[in-house]
Parts: sequence; structure tokens; C-alpha cells
Amino acid sequence: MERRRFLVKAGGVLVAAGATAAIDAPNVIAQPKFQWRMATSWPPALDVLDGNARRYAKMVDEMSGGRLKIQVFAAGELVPAFGVFDAASQGTLEMYNSASYYWAGKEAATQWFTTVPFGMNPKGQYVWYYYGGGLALWEEAYKPFNLVPRPSASTGVQMGGWFRRKINTLADYKGLKMRIPGLGGKVVAAAGGTVVLTPGGEIYTALERGVIDASEWVGPHDDMKLGLHQTAKYYYFPGWHEPGTTGEFTFNKKAYDALPVDLRRILDYTATAMHTLEFGEYDAKNIVALAKLRGEFKSKVEIVGFPKDVMTGLKKLAEQVNKEEAGKSPIARKTYESYNKFAAGLQPWDVMSEAAYQNLIAGA
Ligand code: CA
Repeated sequence: MERRRFLVKAGGVLVAAGATAAIDAPNVIAQPKFQWRMATSWPPALDVLDGNARRYAKMVDEMSGGRLKIQVFAAGELVPAFGVFDAASQGTLEMYNSASYYWAGKEAATQWFTTVPFGMNPKGQYVWYYYGGGLALWEEAYKPFNLVPRPSASTGVQMGGWFRRKINTLADYKGLKMRIPGLGGKVVAAAGGTVVLTPGGEIYTALERGVIDASEWVGPHDDMKLGLHQTAKYYYFPGWHEPGTTGEFTFNKKAYDALPVDLRRILDYTATAMHTLEFGEYDAKNIVALAKLRGEFKSKVEIVGFPKDVMTGLKKLAEQVNKEEAGKSPIARKTYESYNKFAAGLQPWDVMSEAAYQNLIAGA
């Protein structure tokens, strides 16, 4: 009897203690909340890229149970399109969404993390980041800037761009004023062109007013959103200069490191999710836009393939340019070597798998 009462009493005490703990729990385990700001390099008209940034913020908010809220600002709302890198590096912003090749002037290596002329396609680029050491090199390149990068939207293989006059030979690049970023831009410069880097939201005006003769952006969907089909007649393919374009969600390192590990993982893996989701969204929207260009805009727009000789000439120049740019810093050299080695290793498998299958279904 004595023993049982003791147990009951002990149990009662335990229950009471448990109940007290449960009531106190919200105060005891209250999680700190974080309010971040993300600026992008995109105008709101670019529904895929702008939407990507906003969906990212929404997913992070929902997955973190509201513990990490990110306010998104389009290009120019808080900082200019190309001011986001410095703002996050200096800690004015906790993060940004852009493309790493815009920062070539700060560190040459950044160009490889977006895409490489005549380089890997989106799948190859993806595999290089996660399984070929690409992301680790990207982190190393950004470390001196107090930034932590993660791959974001992949655009798929881009289009070659909009030209006011036809490109028949490599010599037609001489004196051509073109908006084209990254290593591809340096290839056009090597071919004799004058290269400018215009933010996405300003291309229409520059091309429409004849300030530039040609411009590339992304592909049919985005380009039409920017109105580029109203500015130049010739729309060239393929985007030899951007075959694997991938954007970036990049965090200020101090802000990122201050987060508990679960929130950091939410930021990381939501970026990976957006990387693949936007790749799909681009394809889905590009097929609709391409049909429009071939239908209702048929008389205004001529879709042309680059001549084979032009591609051969630009490819040769690209090899020289990539090598030159790789010589600009130790990390650029390391990145160039890693990228080339990985691409060379992937190619035989790609030829046997994807390329062989694509040729088969294309009837080639
Ligand atoms: Ca582009």
C-alpha cells in the first residue's frame, strides 16, 4: 500500500512537473526571428527571375515557420541592378539574387560560375557545382568578399540574341556594338565588337534607340517580356555564349553564419529547389513564346541559325579568351582547370547518352 501511494504521488509530481514545463515551453524554447532583405538585378517584368526571388522568400518563410522573413526588392528599388554584390558584401543587404558573371571586374573566376562559351549545358553546370567541386570553388572565390553563394535559376541554353543586321561572317562582328556579359562578351570583343553591359531592364531602350546594334538576354519568353522582339529583326540561335546559365542566391557571410543550422539548410536547399524549378519554368514558357514569334510576329522577326563558320571562329576565340581570363587570378586559374577537366570527363558520357538520344529522336 505504502509503496503504491508513493508511486502515485511520484507520478503525480512528475505529471505536474511535466505540465509546468509544457506551459513554460513557448518562453523557454522561443526561437529568434530574422528579418532579411534581398535585392535582385531584375525588373519586375521578368516574371520568371523576379518570381523566382519572391517564391524563394515565400518558401523560406513557410518552411521556417515564419522564423526567417525575406523582403524582396527589384532592381533599382533599394540598390541599382549591379549594386547588389557590393551591398551584400558590405552588409547593407543580407542577400541578393543575380548572376555571378556581372562581377568579372572584381574577380575573373566569377564568370565560370554562371556559364562558359561553348561550355557545358545546364545539366553539366549543375553536376559540376554539386559533384565536381564547382560550388566549393565558387565559395572560395566569394570568401574575400564576405559572401556565400548558392546556385539559383537555370535559364537553359540561351538564344544568341537580337541583331539589327545579319551576321554572315566573323568579320560582321567588327564594329558591332553589343550588350553581352561574361566570357561571351569578351569573345565578341576579341572578334572586333564593342561590348556593353546593360542591366536587363534597360536593354529595350538601348536597342530601340540604336545605342547598341545587338543584344542578348535569355530566350524567347524573357526577351519578349523585355520587348526585344520590337527592336531588332534577326533573332539568332543558339546561345553559344551562354549554354548553361545559372543565377545565384548569395548571402552576406556574417548574416548567414549568425543563423541556426536549420535556417541555413533551408536557405541552401530552397536555392537548389529554385535552380531546378526555374529551369523547368523557362522551358515551359519558352515554347509558348517561340510559337508566338513564329506565329503572330512572323513578319517582323526572322529566326536565324548562326552560320557554321561563325561558330567555328567564335569557338576558337573563346578558347583563347578563357585562357587569358584564367590567368587573371589564382582562383580563376583553379576554376578554369576544374571546369575544363570536369567538362572533358563528362563529354564522352554525354555523347553516348543525351546527345545520342537527342539525335535519335530528332531523326538525325
Ligand atoms: Ca544572357
